[in-house]
Amino acid sequence: MKFCRFDYDCLGLIEGDVVHDITPALDALPPLRWPVPLGDPLIAHLPALMEAARRVPRSASPRLLSQVKLHSPITNPSKVMAAPANYRLHVQQDTKDPGVDPGGTHMKALEGVERPAEKYGLFLKATSAIAGAAEGVQIVLPERRTDHELELAVVIGRAGHAIRREEAMQHVAGYCIGLDMTVRGTEDRSFRKSPDTYTVLGPCFVTADEIPDPHALSMSLWVNGERRQHSSTGAMTIDIPDLIAIASSVYTLHPGDVILTGTPEGVGPVLPGDVVRVACDGLGEMTLRVSHHP
Ligand code: MN
Repeated sequence: MKFCRFDYDCLGLIEGDVVHDITPALDALPPLRWPVPLGDPLIAHLPALMEAARRVPRSASPRLLSQVKLHSPITNPSKVMAAPANYRLHVQQDTKDPGVDPGGTHMKALEGVERPAEKYGLFLKATSAIAGAAEGVQIVLPERRTDHELELAVVIGRAGHAIRREEAMQHVAGYCIGLDMTVRGTEDRSFRKSPDTYTVLGPCFVTADEIPDPHALSMSLWVNGERRQHSSTGAMTIDIPDLIAIASSVYTLHPGDVILTGTPEGVGPVLPGDVVRVACDGLGEMTLRVSHHP
């Protein structure tokens, strides 16, 4: 199933090019009371939500997907984790052209490192950085360079710690397209990658049963109609089961937690006024604007 959050707080079920408003299905989620459990309640209760979603009567005139405002389908992860340098050609691009990444992440320390996320671990992005296509990317430091990083976002469904590779995929609830927006520079990655709107998720959350092989998805990113990134998720260096094993070796993973799996080659700067389009097999596509932070 493909769930979206649209027009602020409506829950949508996407079928083809229409969105069914299934907001009443949220009644399947238990009421929350302090202290609120870690994680996203929608993902934590996904089987009940999917069952309820099937029962909500469909409107005779559903909205067109192209006509709704899409917000992030994931709202309350306990953390957003991200893999550094997880596509070989991305690392080579930056290493060959120091101008691409002045003083940035892909320094000499990555040369000769076969599996960077094993050596350097995953990094965290503030959960307040999450946005959807409707918000777009809001540039906070216009004098600095902000790059797009197109990534497959894996959403954790079942909590776990020290998850073994062999069992890792059973902990995946589904997938989104992710944008790991990044200010280039010398500050810690968690600072440069965590401004508001610098983690765009969408256009929807696709349950894992719809994506039989998440390592065989073609994904692309265009800026103002020019294709900048185009790759297959099969090119990632450390695959999803190993990323889950690495992450859960230190963190307990909670429902709704997001793992950004790294970006392929072709990253580049965006400026206010740019229009970014992203697409991925099985996950759909979305278009968003780059603007100044208000
Ligand atoms: Mn990234």
